[in-house]
Amino acid sequence: MNIRVLGCHGGELPNFRTTSFLINKSVILDGGAITGVLTLKEQLRVEHVILTHAHADHCRDTLFLADNSVSVNGKGFTIYGMPVVLSHIKQHLLNWHIWPDFTEIPSKEKPVIRMKEAESESTIEIDGLKVTLCLVSHTVPASGVILDDGKSSVVFSSDTGPTDRIWEMASKKDNLKAVFIECSYPDEKEELSILSKHLTPKMVAQEVRKISRNVPVYVYHIKPQFYKQVVKELKQKKGLHMEAVKLNQVIKI
Ligand SMILES: [Zn+2]
Ligand SMILES: [Zn+2]
Repeated sequence: MNIRVLGCHGGELPNFRTTSFLINKSVILDGGAITGVLTLKEQLRVEHVILTHAHADHCRDTLFLADNSVSVNGKGFTIYGMPVVLSHIKQHLLNWHIWPDFTEIPSKEKPVIRMKEAESESTIEIDGLKVTLCLVSHTVPASGVILDDGKSSVVFSSDTGPTDRIWEMASKKDNLKAVFIECSYPDEKEELSILSKHLTPKMVAQEVRKISRNVPVYVYHIKPQFYKQVVKELKQKKGLHMEAVKLNQVIKI
């Protein structure tokens, strides 16, 4: 599995982009940074977009991806997510007020955005990948994601506070090769992290210890304002090898 980091931060500033990963050539996991990073040719290869939740930093570029695709008669793409997440996107974004409803454009029969619901803890198949969503603990319904290509599995936490079920599920994967986990704030902002249902380095260390397998831990969703402090604190956590992912990094698993 080839994972290219298109965006990996919990906010946007110059040189910081919100969350988005390109998996192989045609699958995107979260849409926080697609259209400002991929060339038009690369964008037209995207056929599947998995959304963990409807927060703008995870879905916004699906709007522009649809617009880019339709204007050159592209094939468009399918958005996958929990039913409640897809309904948030449809109701609050693709409502003709914020953005045109691309689930009806250019026609209802062949729209540029298709939607496919996936329940938490069900597994669907997307382009040779087994994709399992699992509800995590955020301020809105959000799912972590486990991807399994038959040889290797990886788990993405999505935005979450302390949670258990996804780590139980990941621990059962004999072929688990990597964990991608969010970490938004430094340790001194623990109260804010609890309120906003995110993690600090201390909390990340506690989460990682819930996984019964010793695999590399890639950290993402760090708030740009606290980037240096969070990276420093991650390094100080003894006995754990945690690495903050970087923009444009390609991780082969
Ligand atoms: Zn969020
Ligand atoms: Zn976020």
